Amino acid sequence: MRKPKILVLGAGYAGMMTTKKLSQQLRPDEADITLVNKHNYHYLTTWLHEVAAGTATPNSSRVMISDVVNTKRVQLHFDSVVEIKKDEQRVILENGELSYDYLVIALGFETATFGIPGIKEHALKIENINSSRYIRDHIEFQFARYSSSDEKNEDALNILVGGAGFTGIEFVGELAKRVPELCKEYNVPREKVRIINVEAAPNILPGFDEELVEYAQKSLEERGVEFRIGTKIQKCTEEGFIVGDDHEEIKAGTVVWTGGVQANPVVQQSGFELVKGKVNVDGDLRVPGHDNLFIIGDCSWVMDKENDRPYPANAQSAIQEAETCASNLTSLLRNEDLQDFSFDYKGTVASLGGADAMGTILDDKKLYGMKAKAMKNIIDDRYLFLVGGPKLVLKKGKVKFF
Ligand code: FAD
Ligand code: NAD
Repeated sequence: MRKPKILVLGAGYAGMMTTKKLSQQLRPDEADITLVNKHNYHYLTTWLHEVAAGTATPNSSRVMISDVVNTKRVQLHFDSVVEIKKDEQRVILENGELSYDYLVIALGFETATFGIPGIKEHALKIENINSSRYIRDHIEFQFARYSSSDEKNEDALNILVGGAGFTGIEFVGELAKRVPELCKEYNVPREKVRIINVEAAPNILPGFDEELVEYAQKSLEERGVEFRIGTKIQKCTEEGFIVGDDHEEIKAGTVVWTGGVQANPVVQQSGFELVKGKVNVDGDLRVPGHDNLFIIGDCSWVMDKENDRPYPANAQSAIQEAETCASNLTSLLRNEDLQDFSFDYKGTVASLGGADAMGTILDDKKLYGMKAKAMKNIIDDRYLFLVGGPKLVLKKGKVKFF
């Protein structure tokens, strides 16, 4: 009898953990498992702000997939997904196509532009290893050009960040650490470089705990970050942002947009209906009307029925969704009942650059400074442990054991 084929698209947090769990739960005679990813490496999306600022290297933030996935059990296919033909159970790739009996879509996010003119064309984005490395190199290029030119363009050293959600805040935190290093290297006075973070809401990190937000803002301002809160970005040009009702221009040589995310464009291009940028899936993580199709991670919303709103879409939930998805796929193959996803919120910790961080853990206990930073490192290393065991923690981990 032909074995069912399971196809997992995307080797991010959701896809990697689904694949790992499936390879542990299913016997080889129960199904073939194939993991499709653009690259032969898995990158740690939650570390990308460090790569973009230049405080971490691209190599420290990625893992070869074949080093952590059981290749005797899982077939690896490195190619880009172009379209999902759900009615024909086929996936079109840049260099071929694959068919499936069961599909897991875990292709992650793209940065949402909300139709703001010029963002797509002119702003840099923290989306993957390459786009983040580009930002790092672009910033360094601005310093190199400034220090070697006779006519100094003072605006060129400014770094403008649009959006003060967690990505924007973690990025400016890393910049606060990196900019003094660059100033020293290129012999540029620190006061010549402005790091400006623009946020439309009345405060940074909208919706997050007030005390922690206050702590983050103060800490970042003390290290030279300027905030423009309650200031909506109207337009992005080659020169910077046009903001507010009076259309003020803020000029910078580096403009980075961290204003929000939506599902990978392949999802919409494949005919899935998007609600607020993502696909609404059922409690068991399947697409309504498609019993063999799961969408998890940043491509979907899962409803928290108790609170009548979607669960947050972040790495924490992507990892947990992967567990439910793998377990439900196993149940489907074994004709057992499926379970609904339930999010076990473990807290939120954000780094603020260097040894600083803040956040909440477990029972909403607040952490600040070095304690929060230590917790953030533990959270990062816990994921490395889940995906690659102690060997990967020793190789790439942030907690130093020696
Ligand atoms: P991803 O991890 O983005 O993985 C998607 C995968 O799909 C990638 O491997 C990509 O290469 C692949 N792919 C994309 N397109 C294609 C294609 N066409 N064909 C083939 N493969 C493709 N969340 C937290 O909970 N805590 C944090 O501290 C945190 N920090 C963050 C920091 C930053 C800078 C950012 C940007 C996000 C952060 N998040 C954090 C959010 C978190 O990273 C995402 O929610 C999480 O990565 C979602 O996982 P995913 O598997 O859906 O997508
Ligand atoms: P986000 O949607 O959380 O934040 C985007 C910010 O941009 C918002 O504050 C929004 O008000 C602002 N914005 C949007 N349009 C604007 C405009 N025109 N002008 C000015 N400001 C504007 O997006 P994100 O920060 O990229 O985060 C994406 C997801 O990843 C979230 O779920 C987040 O919680 C998660 N994340 C978590 C962590 C962490 O836990 N440490 C770190 C990074 C990201």
